[in-house]
Amino acid sequence: MAQIAEKSIEQKLEALLKLQKIDSELDSIKRLRGDLPNEVQDLEDEIAGYQTRIQRFEEQIKEWEQVINEMKNRKKEAEKLIDKYKGQQMNVKNNREYEALAKEIESEELEIILCDKKTKEAKEKIDAKKAEIENVKKTLTERKKFLEEKQKELTQLIEESEEDEKNLLIQREKQKNQIDERLLVSYEKIRKNSSNGLAVVLVRRDACGGCYSMVPPQRQVDIRERKKIIVCEHCGRILAGVEEIQQVAEEKTTRKKGLKKISEEA
Ligand SMILES: [Zn+2]
Repeated sequence: MAQIAEKSIEQKLEALLKLQKIDSELDSIKRLRGDLPNEVQDLEDEIAGYQTRIQRFEEQIKEWEQVINEMKNRKKEAEKLIDKYKGQQMNVKNNREYEALAKEIESEELEIILCDKKTKEAKEKIDAKKAEIENVKKTLTERKKFLEEKQKELTQLIEESEEDEKNLLIQREKQKNQIDERLLVSYEKIRKNSSNGLAVVLVRRDACGGCYSMVPPQRQVDIRERKKIIVCEHCGRILAGVEEIQQVAEEKTTRKKGLKKISEEA
């Protein structure tokens, strides 16, 4: 550990920047997978919901089919009674008995009308539910297909990044050993509190590369000197250096060249 203590601030900052780079790559792998597992889970829940709905609809259909059956039996019974009463009417002794039977017949005829009405209603409900089931089944098939695609995508993504992740974790372990304990603890703490996972940043275009707050020129001079560890006054991230203007300028010329090329071609 004595070797670490001998390290200059500059070396410490460089080591931190390297660790940050590794962590940022690990973060991006996690981010890439981050949404997909949730998406797959949501789709699975959605599909289970459709299946439950279909099941419920089928149970309702069964109930209405039972009603239809019941109506059929009641109608048969009423018809039987009507036949019976009509037979009895042939053998009545007086008008009063005949009228009484006529009333019974009328009542059974009403029962038949009611049975027919209820049967018709149940059949209509069944047809409507069957149409609904067809619709849900169509959606279900589409969503299942979509889920399959997403699952494939996720498996592929995990397979693809598994190796990278493994390598990065090995690199991270090595890089961690280059940094002394106290600094590492602060680094982890800042990173945990940071929404973008950045704990060590450069000053870029006069601003903190983590929170984009302006960094005064004098402070930039101190940061560039790398004689002490300086943190951003606004976000607390470690400012490990100042991005060279030359780099920015180069970017600009490349862009200009690109534009020029396009205009020449045109
Ligand atoms: Zn900042």
